[in-house]
Amino acid sequence: MADPIIGLEKVRREFATGEASVVALDEVSLSIQRGEMVAIIGSSGSGKSTLLNILGCLDRPTSGTYRVAGQDVSELDADALAALRREHFGFIFQRYHLLGDISAGENVEIPAIYAGMKACERRARAEQLLARLGVNDRRGHRPNQLSGGQQQRVSIARALINGAEVILADEPTGALDRRSGEEVLKILNELQREGRTIIIVTHDADVAARAERIIELRDGKVVSDRRAGAASAAEPAIPLSRTSWTNGTGWSGAVLRLREASRMALVAMAAHRMRAFLTMLGIIIGIAAVSSVVALGNASQRKVLSDISSLGTNTIEVFPGKDFGDARAGKIKTLVLDDARALDRQDFIAGVTPTVSTSTTVRYRGSESNVLVNGVGGSYFQVKGAKLARGRLFDADAIRNIERQAVIDDNTRKTFFADDQTSGIGRVIWLGKVPCRIVGVIAQQQGGFGSNQNLSVYLPYTTVQAQFTGDPSLRSILLRISDDVSTNLAQDAVTTLLTQRHNTRDFVILNTDDIRRTITSTTQTLAFLVTAIAVISLVVGGIGVMNIMLVSVSERISEIGVRMAVGARRSDILQQFLAEATLISSIGGIAGILVAMLLGLVINLAVPGFQVSYSTFSIGAAFLTSTGIGVAFGFFPARRAAFLDPVVALSRD
Ligand code: ADP
Ligand code: MG
Repeated sequence: MADPIIGLEKVRREFATGEASVVALDEVSLSIQRGEMVAIIGSSGSGKSTLLNILGCLDRPTSGTYRVAGQDVSELDADALAALRREHFGFIFQRYHLLGDISAGENVEIPAIYAGMKACERRARAEQLLARLGVNDRRGHRPNQLSGGQQQRVSIARALINGAEVILADEPTGALDRRSGEEVLKILNELQREGRTIIIVTHDADVAARAERIIELRDGKVVSDRRAGAASAAEPAIPLSRTSWTNGTGWSGAVLRLREASRMALVAMAAHRMRAFLTMLGIIIGIAAVSSVVALGNASQRKVLSDISSLGTNTIEVFPGKDFGDARAGKIKTLVLDDARALDRQDFIAGVTPTVSTSTTVRYRGSESNVLVNGVGGSYFQVKGAKLARGRLFDADAIRNIERQAVIDDNTRKTFFADDQTSGIGRVIWLGKVPCRIVGVIAQQQGGFGSNQNLSVYLPYTTVQAQFTGDPSLRSILLRISDDVSTNLAQDAVTTLLTQRHNTRDFVILNTDDIRRTITSTTQTLAFLVTAIAVISLVVGGIGVMNIMLVSVSERISEIGVRMAVGARRSDILQQFLAEATLISSIGGIAGILVAMLLGLVINLAVPGFQVSYSTFSIGAAFLTSTGIGVAFGFFPARRAAFLDPVVALSRD
């Protein structure tokens, strides 16, 4: 004879309760054949539910062996037991244990989802089962919109959807009125005739009378095992026709289960919108803060750098003096025109502009003002990135011939020629006692060049030396480095050359690259600090997510128990809660990004010349961060849910 579908051998189950331990099952041995309908009776506390839980692989014996179709279940791991529950057992509970947030039809489909059945197939199957049980018209209703009898039929349909060779029913009629109870029993009888094995736990003698075999428990022991009437189990059990499904293991099964986990997460979130929103708020604020700070930092850095780049690229400027801010620098006269000429002969130098400066008064038609007179070379304007607004710049001839040509800045134009059609071009102004003709006007510039309120006038440096200062010393030498030479290398070479010429190092070199680097690193340090603060706010947000997920898990312990009973793997439960945490935080992340972008838009409109922008990279990074927070902080609660003991979870109400 084939192995009995169920075989218990000296099964014992003890519960440790404080100091004493309760023996719920005491050396129970019995076997049940395929197709039998067995009633387990006994008074309350006799061990019926404990026995049923062990039969359904929700619980394990303390000692003794339990074999399902010859397979010792103690050799199976948690996933294999879940598979057994999913594929071979169908549970019917006294209190139905339907999930309240989804419809009757969706409840029926749950075990099929864990089995990896395709959506269309499981829907068709659920409809077919519900129709057969007479509740298909209630498919779209929530469980609380159904009567007790209807709910129990839905739960029977759920038990049957994966085939269920063995139906385990714990007081299936206990909560029903007489008539509904009768109908449920009729259904169970029908299922037995199809060849299924039915095991009913009851304390009702009338219910037990429907079974052909009655096992009575008292204090955890089998006290009687009798057969009533003709054993219909003599008929060969009909093998169940099972449609094909992916078994939930393959790639498509995994995708299916992941989709289900996300859908359940959405359902759970929709059920607690306010709570989900408040949890998200932490993430929203964190992500918005991080993204705005980073974007603002980038924008201000960009602005500062563009201001600097108006100083010209790849240039260095040599000043007399031992240090920057050397008080005696003005008195050091060692930087002279010959130095500039020597530098001009170097092939790594593309252009040399000596500069001298002095201040004097400027007069034009009776009004006068202080002015800075800059003596410069022809390429000075190009190197400094200054643009001509009108007229022309002076050329090499003007410098050679010491001509009294002046280029004025925009401040000077505004002061003297605001109403003049010519902008001053062709007019003669008096610089001190020297009359000069204006040949060009320089455009107003953002930052850097000529942005202050002082008036500046530019003359050939030869003119300034001859007419104003009267000596060959220079204020600075501005050097443009050849494009193929690195600024640092050039700087070293200039230092060596000038040190040789002067026999001492009485000059300093200003390098725009250095300034740029200093500013970049300062803003980066600042951005790093603020980001660190923002990251702390994200961690706080994450802890909020963890907190709410722990609440969500403990609220839904009984749901977790039901899911495990119908065959959910630990990974399914883990996925469901992880999906919920991830969903909350990634939606929070998207909202945070939108808030940050809105903020950037407002700043762009409010502060001219400031361009806050969000790169795809930073948006992606913010989104990934928020998702990562969900995964990281949701993991602990989700794991806690996944490792719940199914029996403990189920008994929680
Ligand atoms: P029945 O279903 O027949 O009413 P149970 O199987 O639920 O009985 O319980 C049998 C005995 O085991 C009872 O004495 C009960 O108090 C005890 N028991 C059941 N489950 C637990 C548990 N988780 N922890 C401690 N004792 C338990
Ligand atoms: Mg019980």
